[in-house]
Amino acid sequence: MSRYWSQVVRGLTPYVPGEQPKLANLVKLNTNENPYPPSPRVLAALQGELGADGARLRLYPDPNADLLKAAVAREFGVAPGEVFVGNGSDEVLAHAFLALLKHAAPILFPDITYSFYPVYCGLYGIAYRTVPLTADFAIDPADYAGPNGGIIFPNPNAPTGRLLPLEAIERILAANPESVVVVDEAYVDFGGDTAIPLVARFPNLLVVHTLSKSRSLAGLRVGYAVGQAPLIEALERVKNSFNSYPLDRLAIVGAVAALEDKAHFDACRRAVMATRERLVADLAGQGFEVVPSAANFVFARHPGRDAAAIAQALRQRSIIVRHFKLPRIDQHLRISIGTDGECAALVEALKEILG
Ligand SMILES: *Cc1c(COP(=O)(O)O)cnc(C)c1O
Repeated sequence: MSRYWSQVVRGLTPYVPGEQPKLANLVKLNTNENPYPPSPRVLAALQGELGADGARLRLYPDPNADLLKAAVAREFGVAPGEVFVGNGSDEVLAHAFLALLKHAAPILFPDITYSFYPVYCGLYGIAYRTVPLTADFAIDPADYAGPNGGIIFPNPNAPTGRLLPLEAIERILAANPESVVVVDEAYVDFGGDTAIPLVARFPNLLVVHTLSKSRSLAGLRVGYAVGQAPLIEALERVKNSFNSYPLDRLAIVGAVAALEDKAHFDACRRAVMATRERLVADLAGQGFEVVPSAANFVFARHPGRDAAAIAQALRQRSIIVRHFKLPRIDQHLRISIGTDGECAALVEALKEILG
């Protein structure tokens, strides 16, 4: 605290990202990054943009990132005016909170979900009410009825990995015509169906994607949203009141190249899903209860061992997983899907730890 701090800053409780330790040789299974490199086309695009002397970096990037919007629009069969792009989906989400979710009535999101949501509410002064997941960590659409200022949830949910079927999302959209429903599909490419085809029928739907997970580009910082034009215009109004150039030149061309390499995308996500199924079986074999996952992580608890103690013992073996000291989930571990080798190392370490 400093006397120079504004009232706003005094009241903030910032999000705490998973650690990015500076140590080499870690098995890093704590922040849901993709274990595989991005498409080689991304590298070529970055090099092409840099050129021999980097002279293009003198010039501002396209403030509207039209090439990227066009690539997203092609990918999903929507109009470029139905696409918003931002510096990671966290930025897209932040703009959605201010542009579309800040109303008199509280917004709704699950009690167990992406912990950035309450942080944005704090930043923007948005009232919210958390809706408990069912005992088996499912979202019940019936719980999302009645007056509210908006609704947001990830699908698959984080950190549970559990998928909500599209019919259920449709029910939530239909029950809330007066509210914007934001579906944060950061992990949808690992086993879910995107809600983007519902955009044409639901003017209240905003679907948010990221290139950080399924496209192996967490370091490039690119996210986007798809929704009907009036929702996109609201996001543009916030963006153009905040930062005209959220995506730099490299991010724009790299993201376009990543979206265009469907073969690489499919190969990577299939590999992650196959490793996930093996890891789920191995964990179950060691007595873990694993929530069914459609994401690039699993959420598991061991009935006989304290989760924090397991995480600590793994850390001593240079394996990092995520443990949340939060109600209802403090006995769970969230484990990102690494390569087969990394997951095998995890399983071996758990064998030692569990004895
Ligand atoms: C990782 C993640 C994001 C943020 O992704 P970035 O595009 O890297 O900012 C958003 N939502 C959820 C649920 C995530 O897990």
